[in-house]
Amino acid sequence: MISVRDGQNRILAQVSGSTSPEFLPVTRALDRVLAEEVRAPFDVPPSDNSAVDGYAVGSGDIPPTGARELAVVGDLPAGSVFEGALAPGQALRIMTGAPMPGGADTVYPQEVVKALGDAGGRVSVGPIAKGANVRMRGEDVPAGTIVIEAGSVLRPQDLGLVASLGIWQLALHRKPRVALLSTGDEVAEPGHPRRPGQIYDANRFALRGSIERCGGEVLDLGIVPDVRDELRARLDEAARAADFVISSGGVSVGVYDLVKAVLDELGSIDFWQVAMQPGRPLAAGRLGDALFFGLPGNPVASMLTFMLFVRPALYKRAGRRALFHETLEARAAEAMTKKTGRMEFKRGILSRHGGAWEVRTTGPQGSGILSSMVAGNCLIILDEARGAVAPGESVTVEPF
Ligand code: AMP
Ligand code: MG
Repeated sequence: MISVRDGQNRILAQVSGSTSPEFLPVTRALDRVLAEEVRAPFDVPPSDNSAVDGYAVGSGDIPPTGARELAVVGDLPAGSVFEGALAPGQALRIMTGAPMPGGADTVYPQEVVKALGDAGGRVSVGPIAKGANVRMRGEDVPAGTIVIEAGSVLRPQDLGLVASLGIWQLALHRKPRVALLSTGDEVAEPGHPRRPGQIYDANRFALRGSIERCGGEVLDLGIVPDVRDELRARLDEAARAADFVISSGGVSVGVYDLVKAVLDELGSIDFWQVAMQPGRPLAAGRLGDALFFGLPGNPVASMLTFMLFVRPALYKRAGRRALFHETLEARAAEAMTKKTGRMEFKRGILSRHGGAWEVRTTGPQGSGILSSMVAGNCLIILDEARGAVAPGESVTVEPF
């Protein structure tokens, strides 16, 4: 029996990072992993500019008290540049975002300026702080700064910042290719008739979604019956086409549990009893150049072992910096059973209560009860050493 932590470390030690990047336009980079850091090629903003619609002046013309009359020498919209410089006694009407003219370092918002006469040729201004309402060149991002680190998963705001730097193409890690199959004579394809004794395949759909969420590309190999030659042929095909191969079912100790036997033949396999509940049996190993994961058949166990063992490995392969999700502490709203000596993962419902996080379980926690994953919005993570949880105790949760 090995611990969850040891299992994770052993798997991660076998995963290499992604190879050569691919170059894609910014419009196709959402949720992808950046392979090379992005640096600002110039200052943002590229020049000092006005933060308001108003009047640009030199600070020498700001009256310490009372009012002063200035001559308006022009009108500068955003996107234009004022040629020349303001002389003392002059102001320039300026729009938000327009570059500051020479000789000016302060902008009066138009609301505080009094126009004298109808022509708008002269204005009266009062005291204002020197430098007010000016956005300085480089105040957002100075040239040369790393604005997005390699290994970041790109969000909409990252794409906006990249675009603001004039960059339209990014170096991205290639998506890991993940071959996925279900095993079992009892497993039927949804949308097709089901023979007596059969159940519909749940795992291939939950796992497909999990893989795609992690940035992997799924190669769906369908359902493989518990027939040794068929399983061997399908796994062999999978290993040639993919970086990772994931199966579910057939790793417990029943007579039809062929995955281990076939893997011993085609590659190398570690068959683990992991000290966790649910999801105890798990096979991990190599299949040609691919990494193989034989997940348990019970639907909750297969999703959970994916989250614990496959997800960090996929993230590493995909080039991501962060391999584990954030957790938080919550107050247990109810008593929870727990055996010491193994990690237990319950499906929980996390909510805010009196200004703090509170969590209760979704009810029955059997490893076949997939509806607990649907009713829940988090995992409750209870460490090996811990015993039963009393109401009010603090527990660790990982939001889904
Ligand atoms: P096994 O590990 O193959 O013994 O499967 C353990 C349990 O999970 C059995 O009740 C199987 O019927 C069930 N099971 C296996 N594969 C799937 C699947 N793809 N979808 C839903 N349940 C499954
Ligand atoms: Mg089976």
